[in-house]
Amino acid sequence: MSNGIRKRIIITGGTGFIGSNLCKRLIQDEQNEIICIDNNYTGSLSNVFELLENPRFRFIEHDIINPIFFEEKIDEIYNLACPASPPAYQGEKAIFTTKTCVLGALNMLELARKHNAKILQSSTSEVYGEPQQTPQNENYRGNVNPIGIRACYDEGKRCAESLFFDYNRLYNLKIKVVRIFNTYGPLMDPKDGRVVSNFICQALKGEDLTIYGDGTQTRSFCYIDDLIDVLIKMMNSEDSFLGPVNTGNPDEFTIKQLAELVISKVNPTLKVVYKPLPSDDPTQRCPDINLAKTKLNWEPKVKLSDGLDKTIEYFVGKIMGNLE
Ligand code: UDP
Repeated sequence: MSNGIRKRIIITGGTGFIGSNLCKRLIQDEQNEIICIDNNYTGSLSNVFELLENPRFRFIEHDIINPIFFEEKIDEIYNLACPASPPAYQGEKAIFTTKTCVLGALNMLELARKHNAKILQSSTSEVYGEPQQTPQNENYRGNVNPIGIRACYDEGKRCAESLFFDYNRLYNLKIKVVRIFNTYGPLMDPKDGRVVSNFICQALKGEDLTIYGDGTQTRSFCYIDDLIDVLIKMMNSEDSFLGPVNTGNPDEFTIKQLAELVISKVNPTLKVVYKPLPSDDPTQRCPDINLAKTKLNWEPKVKLSDGLDKTIEYFVGKIMGNLE
């Protein structure tokens, strides 16, 4: 550690949804000094605005596709940078997404190696692709379409995992890999295009909720506070536990059930409309979290209904002023 007391922690993707929530949690510990790195492509400085005055917080606008160097000692790195919403990572951003996953991981691993820092990789349930087994445990090797429109993200994240394990094998680097399942909560970007933010924002504006496909596909939604708990637990776990470990909520819902729940909470007169299902959209996602329970003594506490209440409250404050 730099001065024997403080821990200097880098959070890449620090102005994004998960990153900004993590910054806010870690800064509460006076021993921690946070360096938040983001290119603000999907993140926003407004998410960490109140931290900018804090002398233990520093924001650096930087794209991790390019290397970055620090003179002062770095103790820990949470590598969270990457667009994560399908509309944000696909299409014209596809190559950029792969570069962020792969070159970004390489640059952060090299940084960790120089400083002998511990580094945590935010991997994803997308490494399982269209799963042929449910729930998915960490030994399942997945079923990813390597040439589909989601591959830039899925294969990018898979490659990053392999890089992390090679850095551990070759250089004995202290690595931690978490596979994050769908997560929601305050500080989500209302324009992100993800299902929870879309449904809540549509409902608050009195619009129909857009279900892609027939709504029978499932997802398991983890509230952000539960996710932040497990990220920190993982970083602080014994060095021999590298992961990968699933971090998600095993309560599985169909997208139709989610729409009904949001409608019942915001305005029961609202309707749903059906739109085409994007290509390669996974049919089901449900984490097996036994490893996280055993190794990290963690399981999610927040039920979907309660988490949605808090998220709706956040979006009311965020978007009501901008309603047309
Ligand atoms: N989805 C939907 N309506 C929307 C946005 C998404 O029905 O307005 C569906 C999407 O097709 C997918 C699920 O909800 O089946 C979760 O989508 P999201 O983009 O939130 O996450 P991911 O597909 O990465 O799990």
